[in-house]
Amino acid sequence: MNCPKCLNSLSPFNFESDLFFDRCDFCKGMWLEKGELAKTMGEKEDFPEPERAKSGPKSSQKCPKCLNVNMIEVALSPKGKLILDTCPQCSGVWLDSKELVKIQKVLRDIRIETKKKKIGSL
Ligand SMILES: [Zn+2]
Ligand SMILES: [Zn+2]
Repeated sequence: MNCPKCLNSLSPFNFESDLFFDRCDFCKGMWLEKGELAKTMGEKEDFPEPERAKSGPKSSQKCPKCLNVNMIEVALSPKGKLILDTCPQCSGVWLDSKELVKIQKVLRDIRIETKKKKIGSL
């Protein structure tokens, strides 16, 4: 597979003991197969939701796996600051170099919000 941005070929990157991602050595972007992002973030549900990857605006980048399929931009945070390129066909996700850290932060905020709501409703 090649990087959708710089077309450099991706090399395996050992993220955690049992998790390998395809990474671009040049821009440090990473390709995560369907389900891998959820696993990385400790989410039980598939993430981002596969349906959302079907209706968003088209990204200018093509899926490194499906080649001729344009990825879809899925807004992750409510304010839409964090946008992920997701493939509508294979549900893989392309992450830019710092996006993994940003996702972790957004998810943490969402979890805190959900907790607050639960406490508030008691
Ligand atoms: Zn690249
Ligand atoms: Zn794809």
